[in-house]
Amino acid sequence: MTEDLIIGIVAFVVVGGGTAGLVPYLRGRRQRQQLSSGGQQRQGGGTGTLEAPRAPEGGATAVGAPEDVAVQYEAEALPEAPPAPGEVIEQPPPSAGRLARLRGRLARSQTAFGGVLLSLLSSGKLDDAAWEEIEDTLITADLGVGPARQLVEQLRTEVKVTGTQDVAEVRGLLRTDLINLIGPDMDRTLHTARHGDRPSVLLIVGVNGTGKTTTCGKLARVLVGDGKTVVLGAADTFRAAAADQLQTWGERVGAQVVRSDRDGADPASVAFEAVNAGIERGVDSVIVDTAGRLHTKTGLMDELGKIKRVIEKHGTVDEVLLVLDATTGQNGLRQGRVFAEVVDVTGIILTKLDGTAKGGIVVSVQRELGVPVKLVGLGEGPDDLAFFDPEVFVDAILEG
Ligand code: GDP
Repeated sequence: MTEDLIIGIVAFVVVGGGTAGLVPYLRGRRQRQQLSSGGQQRQGGGTGTLEAPRAPEGGATAVGAPEDVAVQYEAEALPEAPPAPGEVIEQPPPSAGRLARLRGRLARSQTAFGGVLLSLLSSGKLDDAAWEEIEDTLITADLGVGPARQLVEQLRTEVKVTGTQDVAEVRGLLRTDLINLIGPDMDRTLHTARHGDRPSVLLIVGVNGTGKTTTCGKLARVLVGDGKTVVLGAADTFRAAAADQLQTWGERVGAQVVRSDRDGADPASVAFEAVNAGIERGVDSVIVDTAGRLHTKTGLMDELGKIKRVIEKHGTVDEVLLVLDATTGQNGLRQGRVFAEVVDVTGIILTKLDGTAKGGIVVSVQRELGVPVKLVGLGEGPDDLAFFDPEVFVDAILEG
């Protein structure tokens, strides 16, 4: 308690607060989380310590929500601070047409897939052995045995019925079949629209190492590039580096980042405060990064369930986006299944498609989890995240 008080007084003096700084500390001493923010310093103007916005009636207390948590983020009322020397807030490019622009990465990495298929089709000798080889190629590309067989059977029938031997025509049939297999009619819309005075909330889940935090940063850039305003919530509190990473992404595009200064802080508290900050700032979307430890299914369920419940106390969770590493094949699918069992996934973000010849995973992951791939990661660059489009994707891999 004494130590708590000393920390509190030091924080009070350092932050330069008056009562406004002390009150949240005292009120939050039972469940203290020093939540702070990065980014938007320039627009927001300075840093201050404010009392945490109150939870709505009935609050989040039922699930241990932090309505009396000390929050440190920039004060709305402070005058705009001049930009620091060399500090430039980037304006990322709009997302439209990005997959088409990045198709070269797919074409390059998918050579094994598209190239082999096309050379087989153009050999002019579509006998049993050739069809078998086509099926094997599709399976090797992680399409899944069932879908690969289905596609080959369909294509075989079409070739027989039309009696065509023309390579361009067979290629056209394959293109159509692949697009249909991926599902051109699946709803891949990303729900980012505000709800009256509340922002949309996008929860990003997935196993560590899949590119989850990077994807949160890239997604913020996509939204900012498309003219939206964003708050990022660093609810992966088990990895200090994740919050730092997110803060850097946020600062680059002027998106506020709500984070905890304490490792292992309650992720639900951070998520709650991120949504509050989003409401206060009137932004369009709040993107919440979560921890991806696959400790136990119950642990994961508790953690993600709690985050979701806390957010739903004062908002909606519009998207639960599962980040999967395209290079991990069956293992990735297994992990995905666990997440899909504990939380209602609304879309998949498939990362690292630039580094694999296994583009067929788009089909198998959708079949396995019953949700559409909405975005794909095609590199480590800041703007290498694109909305997924089956036609552009298939054209790119068949170009290989
Ligand atoms: P997390 O642990 O899931 O949050 O993973 P990180 O966001 O820290 O990313 C892990 C690594 O994957 C980093 O080196 C990223 O640059 C890399 N990464 C993320 N997305 C992609 C992608 O689409 N393509 C490639 N090649 N690398 C990626």
